[in-house]
Formats: sequence, C-alpha cells, structure tokens
Amino acid sequence: MIGAGPGGIAAGVKLKRAGVTDFVIIERADEVGGSWHENHYPGLEVDIPSLAYQYSFARNAKWSRLFAPGAEVKQYHIEVARRFGLYAHTRFDTTIAGEEWDESNHCWILRVQGGGVITARFVISAVGAFISPKQDPGIAGLADYRGKIQRPSNWDHDYDHGGKQVAIIGTGASSVQITPSIAGEVAGLAVFQRTPVWCVPKPNPVMPGAVQAVLGIPGVQAAVHGSALVVIDALLRVMSNAPMTVVRPTMRTVDSVAITGYKGLLRLMVKDPATRAGLTPDYGPIAKRPTANTGYLLSFNRDNVELVTTPIERFTETGLRTTDGVERAFDMIVLATGYNVFSDPETYVPGMVVGRAGLDLGKFYGEHGLQAYESVSLPGLPNRWTLVGPYSWSGSGWHAFVEMTADHAVRAIGEARRRGATFVAVRQDAHEAYHRDIYARGEAMRYYLAELNAHVPTYYRNSQGDSTYIRPSGFFRARRGHRRFPFSDYRFEVQRPTVVAGTPEAAPSPRT
Ligand SMILES: Cc1cc2nc3c(=O)[nH]c(=O)nc-3n(C[C@H](O)[C@H](O)[C@H](O)COP(=O)(O)OP(=O)(O)OC[C@H]3O[C@@H](n4cnc5c(N)ncnc54)[C@H](O)[C@@H]3O)c2cc1C
Repeated sequence: MIGAGPGGIAAGVKLKRAGVTDFVIIERADEVGGSWHENHYPGLEVDIPSLAYQYSFARNAKWSRLFAPGAEVKQYHIEVARRFGLYAHTRFDTTIAGEEWDESNHCWILRVQGGGVITARFVISAVGAFISPKQDPGIAGLADYRGKIQRPSNWDHDYDHGGKQVAIIGTGASSVQITPSIAGEVAGLAVFQRTPVWCVPKPNPVMPGAVQAVLGIPGVQAAVHGSALVVIDALLRVMSNAPMTVVRPTMRTVDSVAITGYKGLLRLMVKDPATRAGLTPDYGPIAKRPTANTGYLLSFNRDNVELVTTPIERFTETGLRTTDGVERAFDMIVLATGYNVFSDPETYVPGMVVGRAGLDLGKFYGEHGLQAYESVSLPGLPNRWTLVGPYSWSGSGWHAFVEMTADHAVRAIGEARRRGATFVAVRQDAHEAYHRDIYARGEAMRYYLAELNAHVPTYYRNSQGDSTYIRPSGFFRARRGHRRFPFSDYRFEVQRPTVVAGTPEAAPSPRT
C-alpha cells in the first residue's frame, strides 16, 4: 500500500479485518495522517463537522469542538493507526518514485526514490487527492524574492511573522483559514485574490461534556451521520437523474439566488463597499470548493488587512508587483496557491505507473481522459486499486468515501486469495460499461462546471473539461457498487510456474 493518510489507514484496518496481515504501508513522510501531518498552518481545522470526518469503525465522542483543530485530527489518525497495529506495517520516509507491472511474475515492482525496489503482488494506491502542493505559483520571479516564503503545507513555525508585513497569494480553503488567524498578529496583511471564494460563517462551539456523553452512546453518531448522508445522497441523485431540460434552468436559478443571498451576507459582514464588491463571486456556490470560516470576511474590516484584486505581474526582490505597476514590500509571502489534484490528467506523470502491455497511466489519461471502473481499477493495471480515483468523491466526509473504496480493493484481494489467483484485473467490457454510465450521469455536473460556470478556475473541472472529481451517482449507490460489485466483472488468473531447466522459477515475495 502506498500512503498512510486517512485512506491508507482505512485500507490497513480493513485488510487486517479481512485476515490479510502480509502487507506493508509505504509512506514518504515520517508519521501517519497524510494531509493532517503535512499541514499544520495557523488556523487549520476540519471544515465539516468532526463527527462526519472520522472512521465508522473508530468513532470518537470526545472531539473538543464541532470542527476539530488540525492537530487534534492528526492525533486521531495516529491513535487509530496505533489501536489497529498499523505502525508495525508502515515503512516511513520511503517515497515510491514509480510503479511497473511485472507480467512474468504477476506482481508490481515499486521503485523507491533514492534506490531500491519493493515487489508487491497487490498494490493499493492511497496517495490521496491533493497529491503535492504546487511548487511553482505560476508567477514570474519567485527566485528573485529575498524575504520569507511560507507554504500552508510544511509551515515554518520558527519564523515569527508577528509585527511583519505579510502577503498571502490565493483565496482558497487554506487562505480562508490562515488569513483570520494571522491578521491580528501582523503589521499588515495583503490578500491577493484571483477569484473570490464562497465563504460562509462557521460557528465552532466547544463540545459540552453532555453532548460528548450523548455522542458516546452506541449508535447515536452513526444515526446522525447516516441522516446527513441520506440528504447528500438525495441531492446528488436528483442532480444526476433529472432531465437536462429541468437541470439547466434550475441550476441557473439556484446560482443567481445564491449569489444574491451572498451579497446580503457580505453587506452584513464587510463594511467597505469596494472590498465587498471585490469579494463577490460571479459564479455558483459549488462551482469551486466552497469554504466556511467566520473570521475570513470579518478580517477585511481590519485597518491592517487589504484585499488586492489587481493581478500579480511578478515577484520582486522585496515583494510583489501588480500589473498596474504598484510594488509592495513584504517580509513574508504565503503561497496558498493550491495542489496538483487527482482529478487533473497532468497529475499523472508519464512513466510513473506502467501496467500490462506497457499501458502508461499518464499517457492513457492524457489521451483518453480520466476513467476507472468504480473509480478504483483499470483493465491494464492488474492487481492495483486506487482509493481516490476518477469520478470518486461521493459527497460524503472523506472517511466514508475512502472506507468504501478500500472495501472494494480488500474484497477483490480477498477473492483473489480465496481462488489462489495471482492476477486480478477488471474486464475491459465491465470497465467500459461502467465508464459509459458514469460519464452519462455526469452531464449535469459538466453543464454546471464546464458551461454555466466555465469562467471560474476550479479543480472540480479539469483541463479536459471533465468533472472527474465527483462521482455523480449518489452516496449509497457508490457504496453498494464498491461492496457488492460482481466478481464476474473481474478476471482472475492463476500464474503457471515458469519452468527453467526443470526447476520452477522463484517468484518474488508477494506483499500487498
Ligand atoms: C489542508 C487540507 C485540509 C483539508 N480539510 C478537509 C476537511 O476539512 N474536510 C474534508 O472533507 N476534506 C478535507 N481535506 C481533504 C481530505 O479529507 C484530506 O486530504 C485527507 O487527508 C485525504 O486522505 P487520503 O488518505 O486520501 O490522502 P492524504 O491525506 O493526502 O494521504 C496520502 C498519503 O500518501 C503519501 N504519499 C503520497 N505519494 C506518495 C509516494 N509516492 N510514496 C509514498 N507515500 C506517498 C503522503 O505522504 C500522504 O501521507 C483537506 C485537505 C487538505 C490538504
């Protein structure tokens, strides 16, 4: 398994529960937790209620707040990994630089960065959604800047930004959390915005002991979370099943009513009319990842916080120059400029994953668009499942989603082992039928993201004009698909030992 974030932990627990113990989790970092280990910037907290951001098999009744702080979320994952004995399975500080299918031995050869290989009969790729922060913000002159560069991932806490002039580039989810948490500490804060983000207030009360006690009653959290899933499922199903003659005008109306409502919210929260205008989105609320934070909009009422909407021309030695020729000097610049995301074809570098008959995942996605059977497997990539793949996120909290994709992988591996199979790959016809269906169901999403809101930059729409982030099938259908897919959709084969000069060829030690 590659990755020890929330997904890798879910798959590890499920493998163990299925009686599979011969596995290793390969993790490039030095701790489990994925995004929650990598990110520890000021203000980080979960943006959906904590009780929806946890495993069904390890519900925590003791969250300190409705939306738990990042450090607490990370600690939760450490405790789950400990409780289920995953540390003994994890090889830290090890980065997989490439994966290649070995047809003669029915296994994957994983190239380790810095040298060496690991062979594995089966691979579960749990590398997540936000694969790597964009190192290059796409603005000229970064190397010229002599001040402090901060990134939301890997925040340098030794640098004291107190009393300094600070810029933050980007207004996505990280910026929305960082801005209000440092605004009161710095001398000046300039927020450079390309696209205004939707940001609604998020009261975050401390969880009273009585509530924690109720949440500790078996079944209560599952029931509350289950009810939310029913609502999300209904919305997604309506969107993917309604005729386009209904969908188009409805989406247009919903967007414009929402924008009008948001303008009202801005009037209540932001004093300066010009700043308010700058913060007003001209696109629908789910065309780009919406955010929630009470302090973000209020920050713009502070005398030391400025919203800059003029595009940045370049970094200078001392700060930033905008296209109107204005230069501003900063002690520290925060690059909140986003990630390479799983739903973009560019994220899959050619040569990184090479399967059967030379199928190169990067080239395949570049030429044919992102696709995968039930979002997890491809015919040319035997014995391999991805937890966060094309058309995968089903509107739920992350854990419910990666639990179901992990269920799929573990079920297929379990069946292969039961049959003594060394090879298991989804059939071409099953894959194509699935992809045709899911692509057709995505019509409303494509209309919303690639037509109605085509003018807004968003990772919900990729460079190919596809909306491969979201699975347009509803939550429960997705869960059923993963837990009950027919085994006949897969081809299982048993490797015949290759006989060389009368002796069976040694097979590599199989690990999952
Ligand atoms: C800052 C931030 C905040 C978020 N907040 C929320 C939220 O509030 N609500 C929500 O629903 N979602 C949120 N998400 C999205 C999602 O829930 C998290 O990213 C979550 O951690 C994803 O879990 P994962 O296991 O799928 O991936 P990750 O957490 O990204 O874990 C992947 C792991 O794989 C490892 N890895 C990757 N490549 C390799 C390699 N080549 N070799 C070895 N190891 C590798 C990484 O080091 C990492 O540990 C947030 C994401 C980020 C980045």
